[in-house]
Amino acid sequence: MSKKNDEKVIVIQNGDDMPSMPASMGSMKINKTASWRSIRPVIIEEKCKRCMICWKFCPEPAIRPEDPPVIDYDYCKGCGICIEECPFDAIVSEKEGK
Ligand code: SF4
Ligand code: SF4
Repeated sequence: MSKKNDEKVIVIQNGDDMPSMPASMGSMKINKTASWRSIRPVIIEEKCKRCMICWKFCPEPAIRPEDPPVIDYDYCKGCGICIEECPFDAIVSEKEGK
């Protein structure tokens, strides 16, 4: 058997399999990335189940894991990943400056 076949394969099936914090946490804290944003994610509190998947996938330190999670618009660059990953459609996209 080749070495490659002996390597452990990690399959991400749910939020429990994700790293405990975003890889960029800390490194981007000095750069306020809000100026890049053309869309603004907005959490609909009534639909949010507090699963924190959005916090785990956000590539910036832009979501605070509170109850419900809070988006820090100083650091949100509007990439839309949280909108795509929320399993409950609890984050909507609004055009910036609306
Ligand atoms: S992923 Fe969606 S449901 Fe889960 S905490 Fe974030 S906004 Fe709420
Ligand atoms: S759009 Fe969502 S995932 Fe992207 S930076 Fe903003 S809060 Fe994070």
